[in-house]
Amino acid sequence: MPLKLYNTMTRSVDEFTPRDSKTVTMYTCGPTVYNFAHIGNLRTYVFEDVLVRALAMAGFDVNRVMNVTDVGHLTDDADSGEDKMEKGAAREGKTVWEIAQYYLDAFEADMEHLHILPPTVWCKATDEIDTQIDQVKILEDKGFTYTTSDAVYFDTSKLPDYGKLSRQNLDELEAGKRVEMGEKKNPTDFALWKCSPEGTQRLMEWPSPWGVGFPGWHIECSSMAIKYLGEHLDIHCGGIDHIQVHHSNEIAQAEAALGHEWCNWWMHGEFLLAGGKMSKSSGEFLTLALLIEKGYDPIAYRYFLLGAHYRQQLQFSFEGLDAAASAIKNLTRIVEPLRAKATGAEQPIQAAMASYIEAVNDDLNMPRALAAMWNATKLDAPAGEIYATLLEMDKVLALGIATMAEDTSDLDPAAIDALIVDRTTAKAEKNWGRADEIRDELMAMGIEIMDSAEGTTWRKA
Ligand SMILES: [Zn+2]
Repeated sequence: MPLKLYNTMTRSVDEFTPRDSKTVTMYTCGPTVYNFAHIGNLRTYVFEDVLVRALAMAGFDVNRVMNVTDVGHLTDDADSGEDKMEKGAAREGKTVWEIAQYYLDAFEADMEHLHILPPTVWCKATDEIDTQIDQVKILEDKGFTYTTSDAVYFDTSKLPDYGKLSRQNLDELEAGKRVEMGEKKNPTDFALWKCSPEGTQRLMEWPSPWGVGFPGWHIECSSMAIKYLGEHLDIHCGGIDHIQVHHSNEIAQAEAALGHEWCNWWMHGEFLLAGGKMSKSSGEFLTLALLIEKGYDPIAYRYFLLGAHYRQQLQFSFEGLDAAASAIKNLTRIVEPLRAKATGAEQPIQAAMASYIEAVNDDLNMPRALAAMWNATKLDAPAGEIYATLLEMDKVLALGIATMAEDTSDLDPAAIDALIVDRTTAKAEKNWGRADEIRDELMAMGIEIMDSAEGTTWRKA
């Protein structure tokens, strides 16, 4: 079954084909590194990771670029508000550069914890100021811009299909907005370059043909995507909240600069709802670090996310996370004995793989893929073959099946083994009372023992 994916641009699920038969070019909007990522932001990155892995399973090479926004992203996604980086620096009494590095490190740690593959290319907005200035110059030369006292704006009225991704025309977009027009000609116009106010010095600013200042947030994505991935892009993805402004503006910039259609496939991950509110709203600021602090295995969060389709809203709850954690625990208990019996030479079971691949290829239906995985654990087949099947499935699930093991760090295995030897001796001597006593003693330590023809094994109860 070929890989089918939903395309926000066409609003339909279609067979995915890249321009080049083998390599997929993919751009994903990266983090704004002014604070920790919220677990709601991380949902988008897990969805994108599943996408990358599904593309690989379908036989494609993925050339993926992810940006790091370390300048120009204002607290309002449009053009008002403060610069998020400067706000973060002021909050923490650090330089913007220290803030950027600190939160980028934290983001990369989150990615590693969630088994998210790194992109092929990371690019930072502040490393690519010239790339962005060059694209603004092209737009200016082609007549898509106008200059006000404090900025260079993109004139959205010059692009007849502006808003095609959100399927809203200019009138609808304008009617729905109550924005400070300032010197803007149209409410949907957006800044390509913001000039530093006369007589002030910003923490981050660069010279440009339009004066000292900094680039707008949207220009970094379209200019860097074109620089690293060329004039045609196969897939662009991000959070669903980016459709109306950020991605619409990226399309406007790229297609106005290139003079042709830019990206074939747009994919968006739905919101995680926390406490009935949007994930980014107030309340406890839920980070992966906080979940870890509360004792959760980060992979339980990945499992929790895989339990919902990426195009459906997902309500976060600790009850849901607990259920995911116990699913991981159960899986670990199934996997460990299978691994012990596997030789490594076994092949995955084709029928089990077929239903799994069908689910993944059906617009990344991971809830069904997880069900296929659980079905595989129950097959009446040699342990090694089941294990090989789970390993193959894990190329997309990325739950860490090859290494998952029960946490026994709080136990003393030598002491447990000694008690089991004593119990075996007691049983051999038909001293049943002593044997039962030792079993109770182990139970009290939280250890369950299993007797079989091959001897006695134990696990955490
Ligand atoms: Zn972007």
